[in-house]
Amino acid sequence: MGLNNIVIVGGGPAGIFCAYELVQRGYNGKITILEMGNLVENRNCPKIKTGKCVHCKNCSVTSGFAGAGAFSDSKLTMSPEAGGYLPELLGAENVQLLINYVESIYQRFGMKVETVGAEDTEEIKQIRKRAIAAGLKLVKSPVKHLGTEKSRELYFKIEQYLLSCSNVFIEHSCECQDIIIDEDGDCIGVVSTIGQTYHADKVVIAVGRRGASWLERLCSLHDIENTPGTVDIGVRVECRNEIMEEINRYLYEGKFIGYPAPFRDRVRTFCQNPGGFVTQENYDNNLALVNGHAFKEKKSENTNLSILCSHNFTTPFDQPIKYAQEVGELTNMLAKGSILVQRYGDILTGKRTWQDELERSNLKPTLSDAVAGDITAAMPYRAMTNILAFIRALDKVVPGFAADETLLYSPEIKFYSNKIKMDEHLRTSINNLYCIGDGAGITHGIMQASSMGIQCAREIM
Ligand SMILES: Cc1cc2nc3c(=O)[nH]c(=O)nc-3n(C[C@H](O)[C@H](O)[C@H](O)COP(=O)(O)OP(=O)(O)OC[C@H]3O[C@@H](n4cnc5c(N)ncnc54)[C@H](O)[C@@H]3O)c2cc1C
Repeated sequence: MGLNNIVIVGGGPAGIFCAYELVQRGYNGKITILEMGNLVENRNCPKIKTGKCVHCKNCSVTSGFAGAGAFSDSKLTMSPEAGGYLPELLGAENVQLLINYVESIYQRFGMKVETVGAEDTEEIKQIRKRAIAAGLKLVKSPVKHLGTEKSRELYFKIEQYLLSCSNVFIEHSCECQDIIIDEDGDCIGVVSTIGQTYHADKVVIAVGRRGASWLERLCSLHDIENTPGTVDIGVRVECRNEIMEEINRYLYEGKFIGYPAPFRDRVRTFCQNPGGFVTQENYDNNLALVNGHAFKEKKSENTNLSILCSHNFTTPFDQPIKYAQEVGELTNMLAKGSILVQRYGDILTGKRTWQDELERSNLKPTLSDAVAGDITAAMPYRAMTNILAFIRALDKVVPGFAADETLLYSPEIKFYSNKIKMDEHLRTSINNLYCIGDGAGITHGIMQASSMGIQCAREIM
């Protein structure tokens, strides 16, 4: 077929599934995955031992084979309704078929879990009824919950499978610095930070949110056409399992969307973790962001979820990632480089939260090194207003959600990359260059990122 060499930058779900599908389709040229982090079995977060984030140069939570997905508890969204904009490119029906195919691959590598939330049961109808009364939309979103430990096992099997293919090479701890463009404007390879050149007929950039600002720089350097992406700014909310019991039991993850007054921005819940743990992840320049996950076996007494407000900036502003990073940095500054936590009731009465006040609650923070303080000192007014209005609405669906002791951790920011312009064949404005997954600003979740990897391989073939 005339192709001898494909380089994939980034070993997250998008990159991995692209390599997997190339092999399945009989591609016998060389496939090289360049991954700045470690192989999945060597990804270890020192915080497990130290109890405190030590700010590794390469954060094992966000980088390494399996990408951001490895440390996530992998709630696999089985519908194209959630997880990104891939349906806008490929159509919802095609994305559903890709999701089904990705599911079969996960099953091939040992996934054995039931889907939750696929049927509209009487209990779900009651939840929806309350959501309607509160002005919220309950998005139907069947989900499979793999659990953090199972997800790592599964990715290890995929890694071993790829390594067993004679034409697949995984270069870990290898960071890509730049792409190489020839005089005709075609992409012909990449160069690593230690100056190693990898020539390729096709280059696939699958760098996830970890590589979002890097890709943004690449776009301006090489005129890769893109549009400023959405940026989601919000908080991670934690309350006791009793409060979330109904949603946890019948939906596992309740996906609610609202457009509260006065701004009417899109505000939504995201990544709910019943019995889960709030986590910290570190990005470039030590930016510490909050997230959450849930193990399959080990459970906490709390449920966490994020509430995110989408910001779409208009002309002349075109640096949404920088904006979100600066909000994050300001919050980190107030917490001396850590995550800030505040009780909902304290926000309403305009006071900071003190550490000893946290210790008096029914609710014990699962992120033990979060610093009690005042998140309102760093959160933009618009985002804070949206979050408070949304919490009031959600309290009508989940009584007790707006309790004084409910914890809000900040900064939770999803700085999706600028959206790379591409056609329905995933062709970018640069010949032989593909940009896929979260890094391309198209996907926000594991299933759509994996599906995009599959589709990219098919387009290349
Ligand atoms: C804590 C957490 C929990 C999550 N939970 C869920 C969930 O339950 N369900 C869900 O659907 N989604 C979840 N997500 C999101 C999901 O993990 C991502 O949507 C998905 O992993 C995106 O896949 P990707 O391949 O596009 O990017 P990523 O998974 O981010 O992978 C990109 C890879 O590229 C590497 N990279 C970046 N830049 C370079 C470079 N210059 N050179 C070489 N390598 C580079 C990174 O190290 C990384 O390994 C979670 C994310 C996090 C962080």
